[in-house]
Amino acid sequence: MHRCSLSAAERNFRSRLTQLVHDAWFLRGTLSVRSRRCGQPNCRCARGQLHASLYLVQSRQGKLRQLSIPKPWEDRVRQAVRNYHEMQRLLEGISELEWKRLQEGRQP
Ligand SMILES: [Zn+2]
Repeated sequence: MHRCSLSAAERNFRSRLTQLVHDAWFLRGTLSVRSRRCGQPNCRCARGQLHASLYLVQSRQGKLRQLSIPKPWEDRVRQAVRNYHEMQRLLEGISELEWKRLQEGRQP
């Protein structure tokens, strides 16, 4: 593959993907906020003001698994999930360009 023969769009997809692979956390999963009671009888949650807890839910080998995400990790995990989605879009974009190359019978 000769990089100079790629379109500008494809070079952009590839360099952004490389940047994410090198410099960013990435994580597959869905964030979900759940409300819960902690069980302390005098807590505000006993009067209906439930605690909000963040979970990362992931399907793996056909099963769902989940992780509780502590508040201090929330920003990092949210960003990692966004990065994973962006990487998926970039990969799909590059794949689509390759599809079109093959479809049109062009050598890259
Ligand atoms: Zn509580």
